[in-house]
Amino acid sequence: MAHVVIIGAGMSGMSLAWYLSGFRKDWQITVLEAENRAGGKAWTEKRDGFLVERGVNGVLDNKPATLQLASELGLSPLRSRDVSRKRFIVRDGRLAELPDSAGAFLSSGVLSLDGKLGVMREPFVPRGNMEVDESLASFAVRRLGKEAYRYLIDPMASGIYAGNPERLSLKSCFPRIHELERDYGSLIRAMIRLQAAARKRKQKGPKAGPGGVLTSFRNGMSELVDKIRNALGERVQTGCRVETSEPSGVGWKVNLENGKSIEATHLVVSCPSYAARDIFKHSLPDFSEICRHIEYPPIAIVAFGISKGALSDDLNGFGFLCPFVEKREILGALWDSSVFDNRAPVAYHLVRCLMGGMRNRHCLMKTDRQLQDAAFNELRQLCGIRKPPEFSEVFRWTRAIPQYHIGHSRLLESLKKVLWANPGLFVRCNWIGGVSLNDCILNSRNLAAEMASENLKSGF
Ligand SMILES: Cc1cc2nc3c(=O)[nH]c(=O)nc-3n(C[C@H](O)[C@H](O)[C@H](O)COP(=O)(O)OP(=O)(O)OC[C@H]3O[C@@H](n4cnc5c(N)ncnc54)[C@H](O)[C@@H]3O)c2cc1C
Repeated sequence: MAHVVIIGAGMSGMSLAWYLSGFRKDWQITVLEAENRAGGKAWTEKRDGFLVERGVNGVLDNKPATLQLASELGLSPLRSRDVSRKRFIVRDGRLAELPDSAGAFLSSGVLSLDGKLGVMREPFVPRGNMEVDESLASFAVRRLGKEAYRYLIDPMASGIYAGNPERLSLKSCFPRIHELERDYGSLIRAMIRLQAAARKRKQKGPKAGPGGVLTSFRNGMSELVDKIRNALGERVQTGCRVETSEPSGVGWKVNLENGKSIEATHLVVSCPSYAARDIFKHSLPDFSEICRHIEYPPIAIVAFGISKGALSDDLNGFGFLCPFVEKREILGALWDSSVFDNRAPVAYHLVRCLMGGMRNRHCLMKTDRQLQDAAFNELRQLCGIRKPPEFSEVFRWTRAIPQYHIGHSRLLESLKKVLWANPGLFVRCNWIGGVSLNDCILNSRNLAAEMASENLKSGF
C-alpha cells in the first residue's frame, strides 16, 4: 500500500493530507510535525478577552480555496466589517487614506500632482523586456514613477512579504501583474479592458487594490487549524521533528529526532526551505543547496489592547502601512478590532503592529519591552493615542515569510530537475507558488489531485 509521509503540519501540509485522504481512501497518510501544535504560521491566541493572531490574519474571498476548504470542514466564515475597506498609508508623518477609485485617486493626498501624473503616464510607457527577471522596485519605477513606487508599491511589498522590493522578483511575487504587462502592454489599459469585458458578462471587473473581502473565523484562524487537525485525526503526529531523510528500497526513509524511522512510498516536503536544507543535506546535496538560497526575514507582532477612551479619533479601517522612505519603526499596524467584530472586549481596541522584515533584520535583537515601546511610540504619534495600553503581547517569528527574490523562478527550474531524478519526492509549502494561505491551499489541492491520479511521479 502507498504510504505518503508529509513533513510539516502547517496549512499546506494539512490541506494536502485532507485532499489526498479524500481522493485516495486506500492510501496511508502521515503528517509529521516538529512542534507540539499543528498549524504553522496560522495560530490564534486568546488572552484577557482579546483574540490575537500571531500570524495569518485572514484570507481574501476573491480566491476561494480557503473558504471552500472551510466549508467542506463545516466551518462558517466571519466576514470583515465594511469599514475595513478603508486602508491608510503614512505620508509625511500622517495617515493618508488610500483611494479606492480613479476619482478618489485624483483628489487624494497620497501622491503629489507629479506623482499622480507619473501614474497617468503608465499607458504610454513601453512594455519592458519580458525575459528579464525584474525586481518589483524596477518595474514600479519604470511604469508608475518613483513616487508611486515609494508610497503605493513599497508598502504593499511590506504588507505581504515584509520584503525588500529591490530584491523581490515581480514575476515570482506578483505573476498576474507581470502577465498584464505582457498581454496588454499596460496595467491601466488592462484594467479598462478587463472591466469592460466583465461588464459585458454582467460581472464585477478587477480592482486596482486588493480585491475581495477579508475573511476569518469567529475564533480566529486557529478554528480552521483545529478543525482540519481533528478531521485528520491520528494521521497528524505532533512533536515529531524530521531530522534526515534518504532514498530507500520502498522510496524514502524518514528519520525522526526521537530515533524512530518511517518508510514512505511518497515523501512530501511541507516544511520551510531552511528545514528541508538540513533534512537533505547529506542525501540530496543539490536539493539542499537550492533551499539554501531562499531567505526568510524575521517578524515581530506587537499587539496592544487600548482603551477606547485613550484615543482622540476612532480607529475606523483596516489599518496602515509605512512606506520605507517614511523611516518608521514599524512596517504597519492592523486595527483588528475594527476589522472583525469580536477581537477585543467592548471597551477596547486591539491593534497589532508588524516589525522587522528584510530591511530591519536586527529587529528581534530587541527585548520585548524595547519592541513594545518603539511600536507604541509610533501608534501614539500616528493614531493619536493618549494613554498607555492596558494589554500587550509580543510574538516573534525568527524566520517568517519566504522571499521570492530575483532568480526564484530559476531556482525552481533547478529544483524540478532534482525532483524528477528522485521519484516519490514532492515539495508543497509556501516557498513555491505563493505565500498567501489561499495559494497554499489551492496548490495543495492541485498537487493532491496529481498525486492521487498517479500521473506525477515527483515534483511540486
Ligand atoms: C506574521 C505573518 C502573517 C501572515 N499573515 C497572512 C495573512 O493574513 N493572510 C495570508 O493569506 N497569509 C499570511 N501569512 C502567510 C501564511 O501564513 C503562510 O504562507 C502559510 O500559513 C504557510 O503555510 P505552510 O504550511 O506552507 O508553512 P508553515 O506554516 O511555515 O508550516 C510549516 C510547518 O513545518 C513544520 N516543520 C518545520 N521543520 C520541520 C521538521 N524538521 N519536521 C517536521 N515539521 C517541521 C513547522 O513547525 C510548521 O508547522 C502570514 C505569515 C506570517 C509569518
